[in-house]
Amino acid sequence: VVQAQGVHKRFGRLEVLKGIDLEVHEREVACLIGPSGSGKSTLLRCVNHLEKIDAGRLYVDGHLVGYRQRGDRLYELREREIAEQRKDIGMVFQRFNLFPHMTALENVMEAPVQVRRESRASARERARALLDRVGLADKEAAYPAQLSGGQQQRVAIARALAMRPKLMLFDEPTSALDPELVGDVLGVMRQLAQDGMTMIVVTHEMQFAREVADTVVFMDGGVVVEQGPPEQVISEPRHERTRAFLSRVL
Ligand code: ATP
Ligand code: MG
Repeated sequence: VVQAQGVHKRFGRLEVLKGIDLEVHEREVACLIGPSGSGKSTLLRCVNHLEKIDAGRLYVDGHLVGYRQRGDRLYELREREIAEQRKDIGMVFQRFNLFPHMTALENVMEAPVQVRRESRASARERARALLDRVGLADKEAAYPAQLSGGQQQRVAIARALAMRPKLMLFDEPTSALDPELVGDVLGVMRQLAQDGMTMIVVTHEMQFAREVADTVVFMDGGVVVEQGPPEQVISEPRHERTRAFLSRVL
């Protein structure tokens, strides 16, 4: 579903991604790990075309992200076409960015109604089912401020799922949570993985990566240092930099 080939990204003089190659297949879960500043969030943002890449190729679902290719020239897509591409990609950030003036149910209904032009009735029905799926059936009328961080994050997941994405991106979805709330959110993500969602998850939760990931990708300094199944990368890392990182987080 996702294919990155030699992806480069710089911010001014700072080269943040230095040629990233990555493949995530349908129904796979890839966990991205690595030290702060290694470029994990930037890579996720590139997948969603929230950042433009400077070189390389990035495909989601066989389509070039943000560009159209004619012959060997690339043309940037219009804002409307980019929005069209993003419909298939759900993203959940570290900070719950729910609409504060809307209830949990309204948050989940919003995009299907506004973007997909679904009827309110069918969007509501589906939103209820999604809130139920993330364990929040009884919270549909609550406003974000009335929910715990973990509950807000689960609403954020339900909201992303409401668009029926083909791919879900998670950027440290539990790192802003109190420890006792982390488990519920990871539980929802685990279930999502079991249901066959394709996911890229930036996380420091090594236990989650070990149990749920098909592939673990260790990034450092804007390159993929090592990637493979968790039992290899986490349990028997081949590179010194991976070992050093793991010894700090495990
Ligand atoms: P963390 O684990 O702390 O979230 P990360 O691996 O997600 O780190 P990124 O957020 O991708 O790292 O940042 C990589 C580098 O790019 C950092 O040095 C950061 O300061 C820089 N950077 C990120 N976004 C921008 C931006 N919009 N403008 C300039 N520099 C940026
Ligand atoms: Mg980050």
